[in-house]
Amino acid sequence: MKYVLVTGGVVSGLGKGVTASSIGVVLKACGLRVTSIKIDPYLNTDAGTMSPFEHGEVFVLDDGGEVDLDLGNYERFLDVTLTRDNNITTGKIYQSVLEKERKGDYLGKTVQVVPHVTDAIRNWIETVSVIPVDGKEGPADVCVIELGGTVGDIESMPFIEALRQLFFSVGQDNFCLIHVSLIPVLGVVGEQKTKPTQHSVRELRALGLTPHFLACRSAEPLLESTKLKLSQFCHVADGNILNIHDVPNIWHIPLLLRNQNAHDAILKHLNLRSVATPPELQEWTKRAETFDNLQNSVRIAMVGKYVGLPDSYLSVVKALLHACIARSLKPSVDWIAASDLEDESSESTPEAHTAAWRTLREAACVLVPGGFGDRGVRGMLLAAKYARENNVPYLGICLGMQIAVIEFARSVLGLQGANSTEFDADTQNPVVIFMPEGSKTHMGSTMRLGSRRTLLQTPDCITAKLYHNSEYVDERHRHRYEVNPEVVGILEEAGLRFVGKDESGKRMEILENPSHPFYVGVQFHPEFKSRPGRPSALFLGLILAATGQLEAYLTKQQNGSL
Ligand code: GLN
Repeated sequence: MKYVLVTGGVVSGLGKGVTASSIGVVLKACGLRVTSIKIDPYLNTDAGTMSPFEHGEVFVLDDGGEVDLDLGNYERFLDVTLTRDNNITTGKIYQSVLEKERKGDYLGKTVQVVPHVTDAIRNWIETVSVIPVDGKEGPADVCVIELGGTVGDIESMPFIEALRQLFFSVGQDNFCLIHVSLIPVLGVVGEQKTKPTQHSVRELRALGLTPHFLACRSAEPLLESTKLKLSQFCHVADGNILNIHDVPNIWHIPLLLRNQNAHDAILKHLNLRSVATPPELQEWTKRAETFDNLQNSVRIAMVGKYVGLPDSYLSVVKALLHACIARSLKPSVDWIAASDLEDESSESTPEAHTAAWRTLREAACVLVPGGFGDRGVRGMLLAAKYARENNVPYLGICLGMQIAVIEFARSVLGLQGANSTEFDADTQNPVVIFMPEGSKTHMGSTMRLGSRRTLLQTPDCITAKLYHNSEYVDERHRHRYEVNPEVVGILEEAGLRFVGKDESGKRMEILENPSHPFYVGVQFHPEFKSRPGRPSALFLGLILAATGQLEAYLTKQQNGSL
């Protein structure tokens, strides 16, 4: 196993995750099999309990792991399926160490950060790096490890020490350290400053790790003189000073690295040149360039709770992007804070209310993404009602599907106060209820998490066609509540159709409204499996419907002439 460790210095938010995944892309393009590990030095055992407001979305894996959103970047960039163990946190490590301690596995020894915690980290990395993630057998050739946070953070110290030991044991040929840093430009002269990078490299060195490469983030391309200075003062060969300057879209980053021959230098360092091929990046190049030149855009109203921080819905935004690019369109996402649509807002914040409604009316389609808690629910219900009554394409994801059901029950069935028991525990008309899975493999947790099968009930529905007439789909879930099986009958009589159900037939997975051009709700999260070049079927459907192309697309698809 060859390891590529990516660390970060100077400031957080440098795009270390994108840099690390782009390095993976370039190595993969050279014919190597690549896996990845993200280390988050925080104490949470996983990202499941972290607020999207603060930390961005919680990404969900096939195995039900609730992980840092960077794992989403790795899955999308490398087209792999990761496991929960590919995300290491301090919480997970301590949990495993403490469990061992309780079992007496340390045989009476004093349990310490060094060596016990550091050994646990090393073992974890060595065990997880060999899990195949690309559907093929046997371990990958290269494991890209991203160390979250900034070098020097107190909480990352045990990880740095463990990685130092790993480096020492596997040797120079098998370990390559890339340090991502920032080159700011200050003052009127606009000089590119190397001092912060020098300091952070010194810090890394003091901890026993020597960077072999620097990946320098900058607004403009680095000057030759800046590179020379960095090389000299940071003790890194000048050919190994990579520059990631600002680019129009992130798909350019693997290309930027390739243009600087980063792949060759990394392969040389890792002694992999003989097994690698020249990088194949045609598809990336095409996608990056297509995106830069898109003329037409489509307006998508995203009506949610966490709209202040776009990272809260990162995978949804990416899935929209994948679908739009497939139709040569630029996504124009209009964020609407659901609470701004509510009646009360017309009095408390009239301007925001007017603006929110104007934005909603101007959009070509409406998307209500997942969420927890009752904030903004009334606004989401109004958005769902608006879309249903005005034939505006609607995609409701998880909470968005539950909203569609509640709205339909209230407006069409006249069930007063129909609600989810999540928002009103005593509702007279519980149309969405808590349905714990009781799975033997998910003991102790009440959330339905990870990949579950949905059986399509009929080939004669939009969703089945969009999913290429599959009889089933496996998508990822993260929810507790579901459509109450007792009201399915009356909802269907009134016109809704549940065209996708789980294997027991009790859990409603997909709803459609056949009297509407595209009114679809899904209990799962299709965004997590969308890939550049392989957009999620439902996002594609939404975009096709928003641009009036759905029918023609489905006809062509059914004729096999796509
Ligand atoms: N809060 C809802 C539930 O738990 C929806 C969850 C979601 O949208 N991910 O079922």
